[in-house]
Amino acid sequence: MSNMIKLEGEIRLLNVLVDGCKKHPAYRAIRPATGRCEPCVKMWQARQDLQELEKCPVS
Ligand SMILES: [Zn+2]
Repeated sequence: MSNMIKLEGEIRLLNVLVDGCKKHPAYRAIRPATGRCEPCVKMWQARQDLQELEKCPVS
């Protein structure tokens, strides 16, 4: 994975977390979403993907 692609992915995922959920402004994706609110689920997914990206070594 190139450094640039990784960076772009991280920025995209961070934006999802920064935007957050309008209905649940207190939700920070620290724990899994209930699954009933799409923005919250997307935030949780972004958090997981971000952690996966951080594990990837940059070549
Ligand atoms: Zn929500």
